[in-house]
Amino acid sequence: MNLKKFFATICAATLFFTTASAQAETSPQNITNADDLADAAGDSAEKFYLSLPKAKGDYKSRQRPILIEGAMNVETEILVRALKNPVTYRELNYLFVAGTYKNYPVVIVRTEQGMANAAASTALAIKKFNPVAVINQGTSGGHDPALNIGDIVIGASSFDYTAIKAPYSPAGAGTDLTFQQEMRGTYAFDAASGKFQPYKKYLADPTLLKVAEGVAAANKNFNVVKGTIGTGNAWLCNIDYINFLHETYGSSCEEMETSCVAQICQTAGVPFIGIRILSDNITVTDEYNPDTAKTAQDFVLLVVEDYIRNVLKK
Ligand code: SAH
Repeated sequence: MNLKKFFATICAATLFFTTASAQAETSPQNITNADDLADAAGDSAEKFYLSLPKAKGDYKSRQRPILIEGAMNVETEILVRALKNPVTYRELNYLFVAGTYKNYPVVIVRTEQGMANAAASTALAIKKFNPVAVINQGTSGGHDPALNIGDIVIGASSFDYTAIKAPYSPAGAGTDLTFQQEMRGTYAFDAASGKFQPYKKYLADPTLLKVAEGVAAANKNFNVVKGTIGTGNAWLCNIDYINFLHETYGSSCEEMETSCVAQICQTAGVPFIGIRILSDNITVTDEYNPDTAKTAQDFVLLVVEDYIRNVLKK
């Protein structure tokens, strides 16, 4: 081996070991979401989140922060990048990023996908950050054939479409769940009665709703409707069932988090709204475009800005 080759080998080996150990150091031991790691957009967000400083000590803020939620990296990256002085917290492996937006404290939580994750991370965030309001946002699948991919649904209400009782049917009678189903709802605390009561749907906080509608009216570059968000852990593709939910409960779209977060916010007495963009609408097309999540975040940042300026700072 000549000298040049020898040094080249040494350099390559050093580079290999430094990279390997740097990777081991930042190795996302807490990250288990294979979807996110596989997804290129998610990957860049993941690296960015890991590069952020970890918070030292408990969260302290003179003003109660606004909490914004998204399930996946692609649904949170723009929000996190919009924060000034971001620091990260982890509770039970959920990621929270606290900073300021428009000089007001804001916390972003990556809830992870699905109902249990959304409820758990929201409950943790409410205890840890004491938010003044919660916005859950992200992608969804359309139930309304009039809605296109990229359209935004401001959730005037949300509901858990799985919280039903089906009437008795004997073996061999088929699996049709739409037959005389009774919506039972999910249990949340009702301050008036001092008890947990079933809610067939959760209404958005009227002030947040008004602000979101105002932002929609003032920004015609977004296609926005007011509607109803249906939540379940399923990804429905059976058009008859989707039509049934749309016709029976008025669902504009489906996703996996909103009504659970509404339920926890109802229990905790924190104002809430869900805002969802259509990444897909099987009633019209079999396309799925998770990049629509970016537009939802752009819209939500305008809602947050308006809420800070016209509600919180007034
Ligand atoms: N990461 C996966 C897709 C996740 S889809 C992938 O890229 O393969 C599930 C997430 O997207 C949930 O958080 C849910 O809220 C939302 N979502 C989008 N469209 C949906 C649909 N049609 N049905 C249910 N959830 C949907």
